[in-house]
Amino acid sequence: MFHDSVVVITGGAQGIGRGVALAYAKSGAKVVIADIDLAKGKQLESELQAMGCSRLFIQTDVSKEQDIVSLMQQTVNHFGTINILINNAGTFQYTSPYDLSMEDWNHVIQTNLSSVFFCSREAAKIMRDNENGGSIVSMASTRAFMSEPFTEAYATTKGGIVALTHALARSLGPDRITVNCISPGWIETGDYEGLLTIDHAQHLSGRVGKPADIAQACLYFTNPDNNFVTGTNLTIDGGMTKKMMYED
Ligand code: NAD
Repeated sequence: MFHDSVVVITGGAQGIGRGVALAYAKSGAKVVIADIDLAKGKQLESELQAMGCSRLFIQTDVSKEQDIVSLMQQTVNHFGTINILINNAGTFQYTSPYDLSMEDWNHVIQTNLSSVFFCSREAAKIMRDNENGGSIVSMASTRAFMSEPFTEAYATTKGGIVALTHALARSLGPDRITVNCISPGWIETGDYEGLLTIDHAQHLSGRVGKPADIAQACLYFTNPDNNFVTGTNLTIDGGMTKKMMYED
């Protein structure tokens, strides 16, 4: 289905991004992994090569505009175009609002939110010249809609991604570019087997999520057959945000 597609995945070296990269590789896409982590990026590049996938790792700090411009240019130089962008790179910040510095606030905003705009801007400049346009998917979070204490910066970026998604969908629609986002709940990227029974049981689905659950949605949103779907957010959380949380 994705045989002629070039997909750029930010934060693709581990976790959800890695799962998304593997899913596109299995679907026959040409996969570009953009990540700040050189060792993990190179490792995944080797694994994709062993799978017979056309792949490229480009070390990228998505909080830097010049790195983003260079990422998209290198991708075009290597593969000729960009069809799909997955804005997945992100960082978490857990600090009381009384103590959160402007430096730390700005770091989270630039890494999680500004990056989504600038990656989308640069990728869209390429996509608009494709016969079939392109597709952009960004990782928001259920934390765009509900919170634990001390997560102001992170929650702000994820709420911003949901708003940026419908704004970009409106602006880029005439260029046949769809823009959607996904709000994952708990997606375990570490030791899934080490999770407790209660971790799984508290979900309506009876289990914690896996990167593959998110990858499936990326494949759906970016399939050209589904290009009537744009500007939307899909929550994938095993039903956690549909539970009433009264304490008595
Ligand atoms: P992760 O920490 O396992 O992986 C994040 C990846 O992004 C890493 O490979 C890291 O090196 C890369 N990265 C970080 N800063 C970067 C930068 N400045 N430039 C380039 N790459 C950078 O995270 P994850 O759990 O796989 O989450 C992926 C995305 O999904 C994030 O946007 C996260 O906020 C979102 N999300 C995750 C969950 C979850 O439960 N795992 C839930 C909701 C949303």
